[in-house]
Amino acid sequence: MQSRQKSSHAENTNHFIVEALQHLEYPERLQKLLLTPEREVSVELAILRDNGEVATFDAYRVQHDNSRGPYKGGLRFHPDVDIDDVRSLASLMTWKTAVMDIPFGGAKGGVTVDPSTLSERELEILTRKLVQALRPILGTYEDIPAPDMNTGAREMAWIFDEYTKFEGFSPGIVTGKPVWLHGSLGREAATGRGTVFAVRELLRALGQGEIKGKSFVIQGFGNVGAWAAQILHEQGGRVVAVSDVHSAIHNEAGLDVPSLRAHLADRHPLSSYPGGSSLPKEAILNVECDVLIPAAIGGVITEHNAHDLRCKIVVEAANGPTTPGGDDILRKRGIVCLPDIYTNGGGVTVSFFEWVQNLQNFKWSEAEVNAKLDNVMTDAFANIWELHEQDGLHLRTAAFVKALQRVTRARVHRGFD
Ligand code: NAD
Repeated sequence: MQSRQKSSHAENTNHFIVEALQHLEYPERLQKLLLTPEREVSVELAILRDNGEVATFDAYRVQHDNSRGPYKGGLRFHPDVDIDDVRSLASLMTWKTAVMDIPFGGAKGGVTVDPSTLSERELEILTRKLVQALRPILGTYEDIPAPDMNTGAREMAWIFDEYTKFEGFSPGIVTGKPVWLHGSLGREAATGRGTVFAVRELLRALGQGEIKGKSFVIQGFGNVGAWAAQILHEQGGRVVAVSDVHSAIHNEAGLDVPSLRAHLADRHPLSSYPGGSSLPKEAILNVECDVLIPAAIGGVITEHNAHDLRCKIVVEAANGPTTPGGDDILRKRGIVCLPDIYTNGGGVTVSFFEWVQNLQNFKWSEAEVNAKLDNVMTDAFANIWELHEQDGLHLRTAAFVKALQRVTRARVHRGFD
């Protein structure tokens, strides 16, 4: 899904980090230290395919920074995975865990493979080979993978099992596991739920009242978009339009989100939903609303279309939805933009909760998980907002500044010997 965003994603992330570094006026040596990954591992994985032939796949794990805690980040299976891509995503994880104040560092990994070309047995062997190859650098207190593009609870269960074979019972080696296999309640909805907490905090800070009665447009109706829509709807928000990769649907009075989800669960296309009028998917960004939530792919708000947005606020649930050119225009137009490294941090936050539960061999209730997520989202927002007000920074720069300060402080206080 995110393949086309990847090279620009790396450049865009660096653009925003450099902006924050300029504000901090850190010496060049420190900048280099903060931006350079601590370890990069490349391996080649060989598997025996169902037809008896041997196939090989490149795989990577980049550990960017562990000053604040064990490395943490997803594993993706995608034909476009390469070392540059993984490097930039690993760095982003360092800043995301820091801005959320979760005691983890940042890492990312991936296998260059189109998983749709492999059978389930082949995928399982590939995943197990990946664990065997990376085992020396993984660990419950060292580096903890998670799902990412084209990997999910199934792959995480295989990772848990394979690592456990070698190292003994280790549920905390990986997060995003099935709920019935040491996963956490609340993890599936966490990123969408966190996005709604983020919206609530931003509206409050801006003095714009509550979610109830506000209108929302959501691009992308997958895990993040659909959960955000559901929870906004439950809280009295009016979700006036949503889109997926094929089309968009609009209803000025507000879509009935539960019935829309049921419609899609029955494998009907979005465009055939009877409770709204169908739009071309490109039109989603131009629908008038209070809050626009990109929750699909990167690079969708650019210098070419940011002038046409008809929202007051952009809340970035997707990774990297706004390019630097698009961001400039939003700033000039006075459209407030809540950045991805904070908005979608609910996912890694509940991954942290899963890890904590695994270490304790204990299970929290869903209500407990959601309440703790609320606290983390609320505190992280308060820190970003404070910097925004004190230093007159845009919210994105404030988020990166906060993250860079936290990582630097940990590095400096641990010493350099
Ligand atoms: P998903 O695959 O479940 O859903 C993606 C949705 O976007 C689908 O509805 C798909 O049809 C739609 N989509 C794809 N291409 C599109 C396009 N060109 N135009 C419009 N819609 C398009 O993915 P997800 O897990 O919901 O992730 C969405 C975004 O959130 C991604 O950017 C992801 O990196 C980010 N994110 C997800 C999590 C998580 O916990 N799932 C955590 C952090 C960040």
